[in-house]
Amino acid sequence: MNNPLVAPTVRPLAGRVALVTGSTDGIGLAIARALASQGASLALNGFGEAAALVQLVESLGALSGSYVCHLPADLSDPQQAAALVPQVLQQFGRLDILVNNAGTQHKSPIEEHPPGRWDQIMALNLDAPFHTIRTALPAMRQQGWGRIINIASVYGLAGGIDRSSYVASKHGLVGLTKAVALETARTAITCNAICPGDVSTRIFYRNAKLLAEQEQISRQEAQQRIAAGNMPSGHVVSPEQVASLALYLCSEAASEMRGTALSLDGGWLAR
Ligand code: NAD
Repeated sequence: MNNPLVAPTVRPLAGRVALVTGSTDGIGLAIARALASQGASLALNGFGEAAALVQLVESLGALSGSYVCHLPADLSDPQQAAALVPQVLQQFGRLDILVNNAGTQHKSPIEEHPPGRWDQIMALNLDAPFHTIRTALPAMRQQGWGRIINIASVYGLAGGIDRSSYVASKHGLVGLTKAVALETARTAITCNAICPGDVSTRIFYRNAKLLAEQEQISRQEAQQRIAAGNMPSGHVVSPEQVASLALYLCSEAASEMRGTALSLDGGWLAR
């Protein structure tokens, strides 16, 4: 018998199917976990060791209580990017939430930026979201509901030195977000972007470890120094904080948020 004093577990995304690109690590993994914790079925995507991927699928399946699979598309290849959503539709029969998260960057002055690397960055950061969105929208329109969330960056809203391809691709992604939001404005499909500042993913901890070794300081002090570099708050954003914002965008409360680019940046862009 149900105990009336215990609130039933709320699983607002039960029955929803989500695709999160680049969800085997970092921000994408945190978003996948958050969606699974609310009961969504998941298509994961991203690189990783075979055994680790099996474990990840199992653990997220247990968390979600629904079907979870891993689709290994390399999204810097336009053909694989275009084929990813059709694979989701084939396996799950629907797609409700699309999170375009996979992304990469190259740091160098523009004069030294290898043109081939520029093409790769554009392919993954901007072309892949174009392909996933254009192939997802017909199903979302048919279902009459959808959430598209693009993980951009503060560099989608402001410039940065030695990051021309990253800045251009993320500004492009914010523009794509607005265009898609307008094309879907009369529907229950929304499209928004999240623009994080520095996030405490694996790379942040690796850089902090290197700095600690170089400067002979503690890892904690190195982390604080890195955070203070860009973030007026002196703190980096956690992947879970980005995931919480993504969850909010999936909620009905956010149904009239359309074409926004939400900063989550410790005050970076407020200066
Ligand atoms: P990460 O490097 O920790 O993880 C990237 C994920 O994408 C992994 O699962 C990886 O396997 C996958 N991936 C990489 N190349 C891929 C490809 N070609 N095809 C398919 N999957 C691929 O990255 P992160 O730091 O969590 O960043 C995620 C997103 O957030 C990126 O778009 C990034 O630009 C953006 N972002 C990151 C930060 C930050 O400080 N980490 C800040 C702002 C924005």
